[in-house]
Amino acid sequence: MKKRLTLLGSTGSIGDSTLDVVARHPERFTVHALTAHRNGDKLVAQCLRFRPDVAVVGDAETAARVKAQLRDAGCSTQVAYGPEALVQAAQSGQCDTVVAAIVGAAGLAPTLAAARAGKRILLANKEALVMSGAIFMDAVRDHGATLLPVDSEHNAIFQCLPRDLAEHGGVTKIILTASGGPFRTREPATLADVTPEEACKHPNWVMGRKISVDSATMMNKGLEVIEAHWLFGLTGDRIDVLIHPQSVIHSLVSYADGSVLAQLGNPDMRTPIAHALAFPDRVDSGVAQLDLAQIASLQFEKPDYERFPCLALAMQALGAGGVASAALNAANEVAVEAFLERRIGFTDIGRTVQAVLDDLSNYTPSGLDDVLGADADARRAARAFIEGRPHPTPPTNRTSSVNRAVQ
Ligand code: NAD
Ligand code: MG
Repeated sequence: MKKRLTLLGSTGSIGDSTLDVVARHPERFTVHALTAHRNGDKLVAQCLRFRPDVAVVGDAETAARVKAQLRDAGCSTQVAYGPEALVQAAQSGQCDTVVAAIVGAAGLAPTLAAARAGKRILLANKEALVMSGAIFMDAVRDHGATLLPVDSEHNAIFQCLPRDLAEHGGVTKIILTASGGPFRTREPATLADVTPEEACKHPNWVMGRKISVDSATMMNKGLEVIEAHWLFGLTGDRIDVLIHPQSVIHSLVSYADGSVLAQLGNPDMRTPIAHALAFPDRVDSGVAQLDLAQIASLQFEKPDYERFPCLALAMQALGAGGVASAALNAANEVAVEAFLERRIGFTDIGRTVQAVLDDLSNYTPSGLDDVLGADADARRAARAFIEGRPHPTPPTNRTSSVNRAVQ
């Protein structure tokens, strides 16, 4: 039986990589739904190629444009828009597999709907899990959904863990590798002045702008520690971060007998995506085989928490529990957007998140409404902090136009 996919966030970087793998295996996969936010033209091109039943966009105007273009091209894909249409696409009886590749909190509702509908979920949207934690994992368990990690580190750990997670007794630690991003060796005193363009230039991976900035602050690794905690059920003290600039080892699992298992590969998201799409089979992903002789040497170092305060803040949020991780994520989303729009400097991202966490009245969320409430409160607090800063420190080397990614 072919797998029928809903691809949430099909016009993004993960969306592109997923469709690249899907196109290689028409005998295995068909596409039920594709979704985008505002990049209607790209969505139309994807619809003409993959012929989904449904296409979803963010607003009525984009929907009207996409509808007209598809009609003119003789494509029968139905067009819908808005958050409720995303939820419908994720829980539809016409799909069995949902690739969660929307960036940020906007992906939570449809990804949770997929869990509640018992789907097989390929999770890239780490923010959804960071925000909702136990609520999401309970939904997966209670509704018989299957959760397969697409984030390269978590996919690597998944590959290195015993199939039966009840055998976790032998696992001592999991070790998340991190490239250290574009500023691993940059003089810390110059970090306040880096531009969005510099922050988005990742040494090893090509990704969307938000996760690229998160990689530069290492908030991405912090979110991944929280993600790993929920996916694999280990406490924070059993999750280590190891800087590995080449991004060849994607993560490791350490066992009681001294064994350490690692998953290696070229840094290309098509590998973890193909693994999760075909699991437990293995299929061609289009990624070249790893040539270790060519790479010759691999380096490792400890993370520098002073250079990367966001990593430490994420670990504190995990330790604090309650809605702290949701608040951390929300404050970070607001701060990253402000940085990309050149309203704050790079080091203000960490300052904003810290200020929001310092003022947080923490509590245990009893349901999704509490999580969304904490998210909204933290966004308000982050905006107030950004607007009220006594000494704003925007980057000095401004360029004339604000280049916002609209997808
Ligand atoms: P991206 O910015 O390239 O794409 C984001 C997608 O989400 C686009 O299709 C966009 O249209 C859609 N989207 C954005 N805002 C939306 C909204 N409000 N409502 C509905 N749809 C919206 O991002 P990406 O790099 O593909 O990352 C997607 C997710 O995968 C993120 O959570 C990221 O952390 C995670 N991830 C990405 C990579 C990577 O290599 N890119 C690796 C690991 C994990
Ligand atoms: Mg990752």
